[in-house]
Amino acid sequence: MKILVINCGSSSLKYQLIDMNDESVVAKGLCERIGIEGSKLTHQPTGKDKYIVEQPMPDHKVAIGLVLEALQDAEHGVVKSTDEIAAVGHRVLHAGTTYCESIVVNEDVKRVIRECFDLGPLHNPANLMGIEACEAVMPGKANVAVWDTAFGMSMPEKAYLYAIPHEYYEKYSIRRYGFHGTSHMFVSGEAIKFGKLDPENAKVIVCHLGNGASISASIGGKCVDTSMGLTPLEGLIMGTRSGDIDPAVCQFICNKEGIDINEMLNILNKKSGVLGMSGGVSSDFRDIESARAEGNHLADVALQAFIYRVAKYIGAYTAAMNGVDAIAFTAGVGENDIKSRKAICEYLGYLGVKIDDDANNIRGERRVISAADSKVKVMLIPTNEELAIARETLRLTK
Ligand code: ADP
Repeated sequence: MKILVINCGSSSLKYQLIDMNDESVVAKGLCERIGIEGSKLTHQPTGKDKYIVEQPMPDHKVAIGLVLEALQDAEHGVVKSTDEIAAVGHRVLHAGTTYCESIVVNEDVKRVIRECFDLGPLHNPANLMGIEACEAVMPGKANVAVWDTAFGMSMPEKAYLYAIPHEYYEKYSIRRYGFHGTSHMFVSGEAIKFGKLDPENAKVIVCHLGNGASISASIGGKCVDTSMGLTPLEGLIMGTRSGDIDPAVCQFICNKEGIDINEMLNILNKKSGVLGMSGGVSSDFRDIESARAEGNHLADVALQAFIYRVAKYIGAYTAAMNGVDAIAFTAGVGENDIKSRKAICEYLGYLGVKIDDDANNIRGERRVISAADSKVKVMLIPTNEELAIARETLRLTK
């Protein structure tokens, strides 16, 4: 049984076809520049040559049509007909407060995605286009929405409500939602299995450290807190996002520089984080590390601040759960940056965390990286959001 996983952006569409018998990727690919001149489909069937189609894609419906043609192509294809695709799983950013679990798409689900355009202005419209394109091209095929916000919906009120007048929650659903939810759900679940932890009660902290970065605390796989908020801007220092900041900074800079709040938010989202702190070196952690090695002081401070913020959140979440059984690192930096993992864990001696340097000397592979006598299991668990979406889709449609 095969599941097609789709992740739509406003001008892009990423896909993976996964064989659920062994959870292997049969083919994957990307449509770029949808609705823009120079559209291109890059199709990669596993074990075969890459296949590139350069053809106009005025909208997502045409893009999906081309993806299905590529999947069934006599030479580059991997299925004989779309009958072999059991269902389609879609990454959808925001479900507001309506859904706390993945769901088979119907008219109500589409209405909720539309109602949340305000909360996810860049993603929700594109996600809906992807769903409607699949409905048009494969009528009758089940589509499943897997929400990035679902994992955070189990947070208690004390964790998700902001300390602002309550009327704003009632009027506009202003609260902390959390993002990267599919990754946190997947990695916390895998950490419990891989670490042989108690599935009902294990206290797990997941550090999803990529260009976007967030951290979650969960008990028995249920989120109790997570660092992103109403938007992905809150929490950790990221590639270009500031994370936590005193909101008065915004008023001060707006007044001094004569800019408005929209421009300020653009600065906090796109020009801050390690990019901004390093004085513009880069948003890419590899560049920051190279600059630091060459003696760039601001790059050094940016990296130290990033590590310090992660360590502070781990401390806070350990307190929130009154303990921690496992800490799992994932995403680009978490999976690949040996030195940053070590530096974060050096803050955690008081918890009895001990890293095994040989075990930690690894990239992108599932492994326990703490020493045998560490009081907390520290793990590297590569994230796999597509597989998580495929599993949810299978669960809801089989
Ligand atoms: P996103 O999905 O949020 O765009 P990723 O999870 O792909 O981000 O992570 C990208 C980040 O991972 C980049 O900043 C990159 O520098 C970092 N990264 C990748 N490999 C390494 C490495 N070997 N050492 C340090 N950072 C790395």
